[in-house]
Amino acid sequence: MPAGKPAGIRCIHLTETNLCAIFDHPDRPKVCADFKADDYVCGNSRDEALILITELEQLT
Ligand code: SF4
Repeated sequence: MPAGKPAGIRCIHLTETNLCAIFDHPDRPKVCADFKADDYVCGNSRDEALILITELEQLT
C-alpha cells in the first residue's frame, strides 16, 4: 500500500484467514516487522483487537 494504510482499512496483504501474505518477504513494511503484539493492543481475539485498536485510535 504505497500511500500507507489508514486505520480501520484492511491491508491488501491480509489473507482470507487473517495472515500476512508477505510475512517473510523483504517488501513487508518495517513498521509491521517492528510491531510487537501485546495484550493491551491485541487482546485475546480478533474482535477484542478491533475494539482496543478503535479505542486507541479515538484517543490519539
Ligand atoms: S503485517 Fe503489515 S503487510 Fe502484513 S498484513 Fe499486517 S499490515 Fe499488512
